[in-house]
Amino acid sequence: MKDLSIKNLAIEESMTLAITAKAKQLKDSGVNIVSFGAGEPDFNTPKNIRDFAIARIEKGGNGYTEASGLLDLKKAVCQKLYTDNGLSYSPKQIVVSSGAKHSLFNALQTICNPGDEVIIPSPYWVSYYELTKMADAVPVLVEAEASNSFKVTVAQLESAVTDKTKGLLINSPNNPTGAVYTEEELREIGAFATKHDLYIISDEIYEKLVYGEKHISIASLSQDLYDRTIVVNGLSKAYAMTGWRIGYTASSVTIANVMANIQSHATSNPNTIAQYAGIEALNGDQSTIEEMRKAFELRKDYMVKAISEIPNVSCVEPKGAFYVMVNISHYKGKMVDDVMIKDSLDFAAVLIEKANIAVIPGIAFGVDDYIRLSYATSMENIVEGLGRLKAFCEKY
Ligand code: PMP
Ligand code: GLU
Repeated sequence: MKDLSIKNLAIEESMTLAITAKAKQLKDSGVNIVSFGAGEPDFNTPKNIRDFAIARIEKGGNGYTEASGLLDLKKAVCQKLYTDNGLSYSPKQIVVSSGAKHSLFNALQTICNPGDEVIIPSPYWVSYYELTKMADAVPVLVEAEASNSFKVTVAQLESAVTDKTKGLLINSPNNPTGAVYTEEELREIGAFATKHDLYIISDEIYEKLVYGEKHISIASLSQDLYDRTIVVNGLSKAYAMTGWRIGYTASSVTIANVMANIQSHATSNPNTIAQYAGIEALNGDQSTIEEMRKAFELRKDYMVKAISEIPNVSCVEPKGAFYVMVNISHYKGKMVDDVMIKDSLDFAAVLIEKANIAVIPGIAFGVDDYIRLSYATSMENIVEGLGRLKAFCEKY
């Protein structure tokens, strides 16, 4: 048989999804695992949205929609962007896709030519790296220091720019660190993008999950930034709708048209029922967002305090999203029984085996001195899981 695609053979499986699936499997087979893997809200989708979708199924007329999404959903997205983010778009500038991951895929496919470089602040969400490679472009990582609250500085960005740099990916609030950029920091980063004529892909999927910070969309800071930014957002995190698969972009009409064309061949429209549900999500009662945010904040506070009481590990307090990065560098090069811990993968493997807790190795996010714990799980699981981590760290 002839060779398969060299480009795609180099694409690695999503570690966040793989470990989450493995933890579920172990649990189903009777192992008492506490999973800190899943990056998805553990709440049910709000009732008004569920009811709306059920009624829509009964009503019928659920065939294909326009490939780039229903006009009414695009209008709801425009209204949301205006009200929440001070951004003025028309429906022609919106593309609705099968999750924000799909939106990111479309955005990178649209701006990149072979060999173009895309600057990605690290720690970064696992899929950015592979999605950039899938667009024939080169991910250029810029490591944000824990001592700077996991935020990159413009000086760092400047040292990563070359004549091939095409774009910059920003993710605030950040997965996996919970870093949230301030307006001033975003203005500086924006000025950097303007100076080097870069596209900005701004992934704002965690915007509703902030703790004592205000989310700002970089596209709202000037006309120039509006023109060069592709805003990426979706319903997965704010409305506990991960499995419904609705994400969207807001961009210039030119960029939106290219993304819509790609999508019209690759997937056609995102699931029709989920799109109708999305209209209700955006236009209906918003109070569940704040209830979920408060629950996440309580868990975050508990996690940060509990981790500070565990020997040999530490964390920076997250300001958004629902993850904590735990520094495990103390263990690197040490033996845990008969296992030598070389990296975050070894540490995560040992934790599953000896403490029955599933975590994501930091290397999935480009930083090997860490593991990521998601607190999108019940308080009961968090208390139990961190108790196990404490017992492990006290023993070894
Ligand atoms: N961006 C970030 C930073 C994420 O953590 C996720 C989580 N899956 C996504 C995008 C994609 O979300 P979805 O495809 O479920 O909309
Ligand atoms: N974004 C979530 C996470 O980081 C969900 C899994 C995924 O899509 O990668 O865990």
